[in-house]
Amino acid sequence: MLVPLMKARLYTATEDGSKEVVCHLCHHRCHIAPRHLGICGARRNDDGELVSLVYGRAVSLNPDPIEKKPLFHFLPGTHSMSTGTPGCNFTCAFCQNNDISQFLREFPGRIPMGWTKPDEIVQAALNAGCASMSFTYTEPTIFYEYAEDTGRLGLEKHLPSCFVSNGFMTPETVDAMKDWVRAINVDLKCFNADTYRKVMGGTLDGVLETLVRLHHSGIWLEITTLVVPGMNDSDDELCAIAEFIAKLDPCIPWHVSRFFPHYKMRAQVPTVLSTIQRAIQIGEEAGLKFVYCGNVLDGKYESTWCMDCGALLIRRSGFTVLDMPMLAGGACPDCGKKCPGVWSI
Ligand code: SF4
Repeated sequence: MLVPLMKARLYTATEDGSKEVVCHLCHHRCHIAPRHLGICGARRNDDGELVSLVYGRAVSLNPDPIEKKPLFHFLPGTHSMSTGTPGCNFTCAFCQNNDISQFLREFPGRIPMGWTKPDEIVQAALNAGCASMSFTYTEPTIFYEYAEDTGRLGLEKHLPSCFVSNGFMTPETVDAMKDWVRAINVDLKCFNADTYRKVMGGTLDGVLETLVRLHHSGIWLEITTLVVPGMNDSDDELCAIAEFIAKLDPCIPWHVSRFFPHYKMRAQVPTVLSTIQRAIQIGEEAGLKFVYCGNVLDGKYESTWCMDCGALLIRRSGFTVLDMPMLAGGACPDCGKKCPGVWSI
């Protein structure tokens, strides 16, 4: 189907008459000459106008448990209609979705197949009984226009939106998201500037700056670290991550996930369970109130406990909520302490 390309948002034209534009969606801040693409491959300069090549190009539409994002303190036990488009502004060697995230780098300029309008995503979410929509699978920053139009339509139907992101968006993008995004999980992939540059193709400083801004934006924030053997699993690095989060706010949930071989790290071994246990201990010693394990079945660290009295609030197994003794508004059934999070819309 021939569909006109959507004009991009958050870019500026240079004033030198060259028709070059600067994209301000992410920290790459690509300077893009006419007929050229940004680093993500998802945005093209068409004669001085930046256009999105991925608007409407959803690659999948799944009613996932919100716990799969993972978001553990946002509408627990509900489903979130999840979608994404091809393209990413990072090049993570361990990507689990590299066939779609790196598609536009492998086929530069190719406009992906398919066409799903924003209202069709909203309707699919309503039909499936979802409580929210999630922009995920690849990096939602690079399909910002599509996500925003869908998210704003969803709000009219009382469907809040979530991002699952690498956190590399600019302050301008975070400010634009505040109106319509209600929750975000950001991957803080390591705490080493060289690794961010060489393995992810991004910068540590950019992500840290975004995390601070997100925390103050009013958008509910959770953070995930995929613990990859030999890349970010030293005590020093895990401590640095945990201490950064604790300084920002010890109530931000931290998910430490087990790595399994993928993409360019197929020869790497999976994370051993003792490393995940060590990461959890490091998080707790740093003062974090909510540390969770990912890709590991562990009743204690998949569940949410009152940060004051230790009573059970939400019992999970995998992506399933088994029991939720927590009271309305996130109150502990034993001591009444409110657990931080978004428990209703
Ligand atoms: S979103 Fe894409 S085009 Fe825009 S700055 Fe980031 S990588 Fe460059």
